[in-house]
Amino acid sequence: MHKTITPPKISAQTGLERHADRRTDTAFMGSARAHPDAKVLPLFDLRIPIVPALDGSEAQLRWLSMHDVYAIAKPNEFVFLGEEESGAPVFTCNFQALQTYRSAAAVEEMKPLADLRSLALQGILSQEELLVVSQARALMAWHAVHRCCSRCGAQVRSHDGGWRRQCGACGLDTYPRMDPAVIMLVTRNGRCLLGREHRFPDKLFSTLAGYVEPGDDIEYAVRREVREETGVQVGQVRYAGSQPWPFPHSLMIGCWGEGLSDELTLSAAEISDARWFTREEAASMLAKSHPEGLEVPPSISIAYTLIQSFVDGTLGEAAA
Ligand SMILES: [Zn+2]
Repeated sequence: MHKTITPPKISAQTGLERHADRRTDTAFMGSARAHPDAKVLPLFDLRIPIVPALDGSEAQLRWLSMHDVYAIAKPNEFVFLGEEESGAPVFTCNFQALQTYRSAAAVEEMKPLADLRSLALQGILSQEELLVVSQARALMAWHAVHRCCSRCGAQVRSHDGGWRRQCGACGLDTYPRMDPAVIMLVTRNGRCLLGREHRFPDKLFSTLAGYVEPGDDIEYAVRREVREETGVQVGQVRYAGSQPWPFPHSLMIGCWGEGLSDELTLSAAEISDARWFTREEAASMLAKSHPEGLEVPPSISIAYTLIQSFVDGTLGEAAA
């Protein structure tokens, strides 16, 4: 039976009550900022301060009080991530190096600073903290590159607890951006189609993927990307599951596609290789025991989950 899948580790729900309906309430946002238990995750050029365990096997995020944040510098903006069950409001902010040059000692105390991708790959944060920092980083990455109005070039300011930016000159509103991308496992006659992008490490194969373009629906985007990259025609397309992918702000829409043709005509501009793999081969790639040493992406990725579902028999033409 075709099932939707649940991608592991990086998913959507942070465990915080987001209070989206109260972000425009300036009195609520003001009292949240002034709350004695308010906690802030400060980022430093989008790098994340952590407190590692002595043996490095696990780590926690390094949270600060509002007071301690201002002791470093005044942030350009705070983003309200939500409220903990205890009622403590949770914020994040991002310091750029230019803002903190006067407080080098305080920044030094925040080290080590980690990259989100390596934190996710190492699996050293709790699931809950990984979700919070994934959302925090995606939002702060958006703020970092939306300093000016895209229509008139004037300065834009943060509103609604950091979930909207508005131009002070022309009034244009912009909202945190997500880029939808399709990521699909195409199967045919008990085999699945995996490819290699030019940037991939040696021996890594993954599901095909591509951005949804203006005018596409999800099904068309799947068929178009597979045809462009490999020449394979795709018939039925079914949604399988999705995953936010905060590198920096994609939404991966996982699909199964029914392959209608076998022959591969590769687009050298898009991929360096693509092959059909049997279920046994895919299983050995998941298990890192493939005779040629071929591998698939790590288990935090929806690509891994799609391939695993094909190996398990819950995704593919047999399960359709
Ligand atoms: Zn403007």
